[in-house]
Amino acid sequence: MPDRPIKELDGQTPLEAANTPNMDELVKLSEMGIVNHIPKGMKSGSDIGNLSVLGYDPNKYFTGRSPLEAESIGIKLEPTDICYRCNLVNIVNQNGKEYMDDHSAGHIESELSKRIIIELKNEFENDEFKIHHGVSYRHILVWKNGMSNLETTAPHDILEKEINPFLPTGPGSVRLRDLMRQARIKIKKIKGSNPNMKNLKCSDIWLWGQGKKPNLPSFNSIHNIHGSMISAVDLLKGIGKLAGLNVIEVEGATGYLDTNYDGKVQSALQSLIENDFCMIHIEAPDETGHEGDYKKKMQAIVDLDKKVIGPIYNGLKKEYNEYKICIVSDHPTPVELRTHSYEYVPYMIFDSRLPKINHKQQTFNEKSANEADLIRDNGHELISTFFKN
Ligand SMILES: [Zn+2]
Repeated sequence: MPDRPIKELDGQTPLEAANTPNMDELVKLSEMGIVNHIPKGMKSGSDIGNLSVLGYDPNKYFTGRSPLEAESIGIKLEPTDICYRCNLVNIVNQNGKEYMDDHSAGHIESELSKRIIIELKNEFENDEFKIHHGVSYRHILVWKNGMSNLETTAPHDILEKEINPFLPTGPGSVRLRDLMRQARIKIKKIKGSNPNMKNLKCSDIWLWGQGKKPNLPSFNSIHNIHGSMISAVDLLKGIGKLAGLNVIEVEGATGYLDTNYDGKVQSALQSLIENDFCMIHIEAPDETGHEGDYKKKMQAIVDLDKKVIGPIYNGLKKEYNEYKICIVSDHPTPVELRTHSYEYVPYMIFDSRLPKINHKQQTFNEKSANEADLIRDNGHELISTFFKN
C-alpha cells in the first residue's frame, strides 16, 4: 500500500489521495508509527516482508521464496530439493532485443495457466525436474538434487528492461536456460493450436526465487495463540502452513482487484469464533503498484478500506468487547518504480480496551505515520507488541 508522492495527485501518495474513512476513523484511536520489515542487506519482497509481519526474523528463517509457496501447494520437499518459482511471463522482441513486458502474463486465469502447465509437464518432466501448477501466473519447478547458488532475478524487478543480463547465471544455470528455451517453443505451439489462447500475454516461463525448505517454529509455540491465515497468494498460504496456522481457502480470492473481499471478511470473522488471531492478506495494492497504475492502486486502497477494514471493524465491534486490529504493509510498491522499495511502512494497532489516543494527524498514510514519531526498526517484533497483554 505505501508509495511515493505522485505528480498527477498533486504530490500525494495513493494512500493519501484515496478516500479511506474507516482507516482514518480507526487511526484516531490507535497507536500509529512506521515499521521496517526488510532487514538490512535483504531484498524487499513479500516473502521476507511477510515472514517478518508474522514475527519470524527473516535473517534467521528465510531460505528462499519458492519453498514457501511449494508448501502451500502441498509439495513435499526433500532436504536436497531445490525449489524455483516458475512464472508465466510475457517477453517481447523489439529490434532483435528481448524485453520483459509482463511478469504476470496479463494476470492469466488459473484455468488457462493450468492447461499450459500441464502441457509443459508432458514436454519436459523427468526424474530431475517436476513442475507444479499454482495460481494464475505463479507456479513451481522442483529440481531434484539441484543447484541453488546461482543468480536469478525476479521478473517484476525488470519490467520493460532487456532480459539478457538477468537470465540465470552461475553453476547449473545452463540447465535452467535450456528449460526456459524449450518452454518458449512449447508455449508458442500451445497458443497456435488454441484459438482462445491466441491473444494471451504469455510467451515464456521465468525461473527465480530458488531455495530449500525452511524450518519455522510454530506460531503457537512462540505466541501461545492459535490463528488462521486468509490469502489468495500461495506464498502467504505457505508461510501460514509452515507456521502451523489454519490456512483458510476462500472461493473467488484472486489476489487482485476482482477478489472476493466479502468472502475473505466473512471467513475471517467466522474463524475468530474458534481462533484468537486471523491474518487477512490483501494483494491488490501490490499488484497495481507493479502495474504502475496509480488510479488502480487508489481503487485497491479504497476497496481495502470499504470492503475489508470497515466490515471487519464493525463485525468485531458487534461480537466482542475486547479485540485488537493491526493494519500493516509488508513493503512499499511505488507506482513510479513498478517494484518493491525499502521505505519503512505505516502501521497502526487498535486496542479496544485502551483509552483513546488523539493524534494531531487524523488520517492513516505515509506522512502522518512518519510524523507520529514511533519508529520500529525490527519489524518481526511488531507482532509481539500486538499480542502483549
Ligand atoms: Zn510485489
